[in-house]
Amino acid sequence: MELPFAEPYKIKVVEPLRRSTREEREAWISESSYNLFKLRSEQVFIDLLTDSGTSAMSHNQWSEMMLGDESYAGSASFFKLKEVINKMLGMPLFVPTHQGRAAENLLFSAMLRKGDLVPGNAHFDTTKGHIEFRNAIAVDCTIDEASDTGLYHPFKGNIDLEKLEKVLRENPREKIPLCLITITCNTSGGQPVSMKNIKEVSSLCKKYGIPVFFDAARFAENAYFIKTREEEYAARDIDEIVLEMFSYADGATMSSKKDAIVNIGGFLACRDEKLFERISMYCILYEGYLTYGGLAGRDLAAIAQGLKEGCSFDYLESRVKQVEYLGRLLKNYGVPIQEPTGGHAVFVDANKMLPHIPREEFQAQSLAVELYLEGGVRGVEIGALLADRDPKTRENRYPRLELLRLAIPRRVYTVNHIEYVAACLGNIYERRDSIRRGFKIVREAPIMRHFTVELERC
Ligand SMILES: *Cc1c(COP(=O)(O)O)cnc(C)c1O
Repeated sequence: MELPFAEPYKIKVVEPLRRSTREEREAWISESSYNLFKLRSEQVFIDLLTDSGTSAMSHNQWSEMMLGDESYAGSASFFKLKEVINKMLGMPLFVPTHQGRAAENLLFSAMLRKGDLVPGNAHFDTTKGHIEFRNAIAVDCTIDEASDTGLYHPFKGNIDLEKLEKVLRENPREKIPLCLITITCNTSGGQPVSMKNIKEVSSLCKKYGIPVFFDAARFAENAYFIKTREEEYAARDIDEIVLEMFSYADGATMSSKKDAIVNIGGFLACRDEKLFERISMYCILYEGYLTYGGLAGRDLAAIAQGLKEGCSFDYLESRVKQVEYLGRLLKNYGVPIQEPTGGHAVFVDANKMLPHIPREEFQAQSLAVELYLEGGVRGVEIGALLADRDPKTRENRYPRLELLRLAIPRRVYTVNHIEYVAACLGNIYERRDSIRRGFKIVREAPIMRHFTVELERC
């Protein structure tokens, strides 16, 4: 008999969870204006809002925290992290930042001007926010297969080279400061980008003289998918794959709250010294001195250790298989999901699940609220609410997909938790025809409204 996969770690510290009744949840979600971000964590039983900063650190990471060097300048913890970034990613220059979006802020402050274009695969929401805040344009060149949730494609994060070349050809070079590849592509469902695609995008950009940057939050999961889905890489180590991936990039922003398995932190790495000088100026202005960048020394040490653990094949396998397992259970219940499942999350196709709720009434948000009411499980809407309004027309934007994302924190939940979540959605699927009321917006912010939006039942 083939042995089933099992987590390559055991639990040393536990945090109690409190279950709640449906009546309690009805009251809490209504008090929260049907925005799951407004719930208190005690009101949530299983929290799949995000895998960002919610992962469990290892005992080695906690030991590194104790060894953290809190010197303002030249901290030993900084040099520990520097060594890992230099060796594992092959990036010579970097500054720490307090999280991923801070790295984006530094990068775009240094490189982006009003009216510029930033082509890439589907940009993450904070990335898009930073681009649009500067009156520049994020151009989504993801392959069309990514928006067909039922279609199997091993690399739905790939960039369509024709779409990309059209942008590069039809716009002056100085309007395109960089091309951004998000690995894995969070917005299209935690979907990986193949090494072949990374290589091709990089050489196309080179031809036009455009630097390539990674939004590298989940680079290790991307490397795992390359190893397991791209034949030429089957026999290669994750470390080798990571190094090759980064060899095609001129730099990277990183949210360490993802694949570096820490609760806070990020960094911005690059190769070009001139660019690094500009980045350094903004780092000191916005984040802090170059050897701490808005973090404590102990955080830098934990990131260094977490980057190594995050690239272990056994860990990555158990992580991706846990996500895959949730997807398989949901499919068995008939729940429509984005296939194949991504690295960090399962995305439920709310448009297919609740087609009788009009898109104007926020299908995926309706499903998210329903899931919370059913079992105290918190997911997140990746649909029209998240898509914000068009910056020019102020009309609601309707993305191609209306998804409920169930993001799995790293090393946190057990198989029983996963089965509980699947059963909740299975129940909702059974009674899907009776769910007929969506939501309307009562109050919203001009940008990134989903965090603070207030809703009412239609
Ligand atoms: C989380 C994330 C970011 C932003 O990082 P924060 O640490 O949350 O600021 C950027 N890009 C991607 C792909 C992410 O997943």
